[in-house]
Amino acid sequence: MTDDHTYDVVIIGAGVVGTAIGRQLARYRLRTVMLDRCTDVGMGTSKANTAILHTGFDTRPGSLESALVRRGHELLTAYAGRAGIALEKTGAVLVAWDAEQAVRLDDVVTKSKANGYLRAHRITLEELYRREPALGGGAMGAVVIPDESIICPWSTSIAYATEAVGAGVELRLGVEVTAVTRDADAWLLRTTSGSLRSDWVVNAAGLGSDLLNHQFGHDEFTVAPRRGQLIVFDKMARPLLSSILLPVPTERTKGVLVAPTVYGNVLLGPTAEDVPDRQDTATTAVGIHGLFDAARRILPDLINEEVTATYAGLRAATEHPDYQITTHDREHYACVGGIRSTGLTASLAIAEHVVDGMGAGGLSLAEADHEPAVPHMPQLAERATRAFEDTRMIEDDPAYGHIICFCERVTEGEVRDALRAPVPAVDLGGVRRRTRATNGRCQGFFCGAAVAAQFASG
Ligand SMILES: Cc1cc2nc3c(=O)[nH]c(=O)nc-3n(C[C@H](O)[C@H](O)[C@H](O)COP(=O)(O)OP(=O)(O)OC[C@H]3O[C@@H](n4cnc5c(N)ncnc54)[C@H](O)[C@@H]3O)c2cc1C
Repeated sequence: MTDDHTYDVVIIGAGVVGTAIGRQLARYRLRTVMLDRCTDVGMGTSKANTAILHTGFDTRPGSLESALVRRGHELLTAYAGRAGIALEKTGAVLVAWDAEQAVRLDDVVTKSKANGYLRAHRITLEELYRREPALGGGAMGAVVIPDESIICPWSTSIAYATEAVGAGVELRLGVEVTAVTRDADAWLLRTTSGSLRSDWVVNAAGLGSDLLNHQFGHDEFTVAPRRGQLIVFDKMARPLLSSILLPVPTERTKGVLVAPTVYGNVLLGPTAEDVPDRQDTATTAVGIHGLFDAARRILPDLINEEVTATYAGLRAATEHPDYQITTHDREHYACVGGIRSTGLTASLAIAEHVVDGMGAGGLSLAEADHEPAVPHMPQLAERATRAFEDTRMIEDDPAYGHIICFCERVTEGEVRDALRAPVPAVDLGGVRRRTRATNGRCQGFFCGAAVAAQFASG
């Protein structure tokens, strides 16, 4: 890149929030670029979360997060349907395990109403155990939240980026912004791959958003990474539950939950640990043992099931209990930081809110000639018809009939598509997030060589 690279808007960070903003800006006649230091989109916190599309029933009433989660739930539910992002409305049951938690259940329902979500309601213990017969004994009360859903977090960022790129937004990966200065007309961003100028800058840098915010001359918040470790159980565990099993949340954390995944597995987690290192996504023996202890009470039979994988993600927590979104009109700078535990759900609403703010702050929002086209993402949902069983697809292209990952039943045709997509996989992790290949119980032990060979041959 050279100084000739001049943009109307630069978005720093191509996680689920940055790509959602890129997609939103794609509707306007603007020269926009999304930058990320990683080599794929959605590689920060956006790739390692609990994958729940929240209703916002337990957010802080009156907060920006509450409003954006509620709106984001609505927008992403509709978008997932159009873009073919795997989504299942399983509903959730929030379970009280002691008398102190049981007395708080009415408050949970009241808070939910204050958040504009009216469908949360108490159920009897009889109803609870009828719905979830494998639930541990001793529950003392429960609330049902019918619209909590599970979603594919990987396809979400990729779909947003694909739509933005299709409508002319540039995507530059493997590019880190290292310094920021300003002259009379524009921001000058120094990066690991040259410099660029821009009228407006959006800081959507997740765990690095406060550090960048300092470079823009602001210091409203400091990110304090909060690690969440999770365990993925094999698909054999899936019949143990029908909905998301939630604990009674506290001010600090939503607590440890058990949830199905759209790929047919079961997730247990996350922990909530303050860690000093912004890259510390290690799983630990203490963390994993703590999760098993929690599962012993919630869903005892889960303990006997096979573990497929463990992972950890870092929430961009701050000293404030709300998102840190500010548009500095005169400076042409928008900071979108502190998007802690609900950014996947709220992503489209955050984008709408930020772009509206930039428009009010002077960014010209003249509509482009064409509406961006919604992409059609590969079918990753376990409950839907996948490529290997779709006779029409196989008749048209036999590569969809040739399975190379047997645990997840991923075909040669799907891996090929991932390598040739508008936002393509550039490594085996990218293939995994686009197809599920190597994501199953063998974790690539049997199929890794075949997937790598296809990756190498393009
Ligand atoms: C354990 C856990 C569970 C969660 N569960 C849920 C859930 O169930 N539902 C839900 O809605 N949300 C959940 N979340 C929250 C959600 O994952 C986040 O809110 C969301 O992913 C934040 O997205 P982001 O784009 O802001 O950040 P990120 O995905 O971290 O993206 C920021 C990007 O900025 C890039 N970057 C940083 N600095 C620079 C720089 N200087 N130059 C270039 N690039 C830079 C990074 O590489 C990164 O890709 C969970 C989070 C965790 C950790």
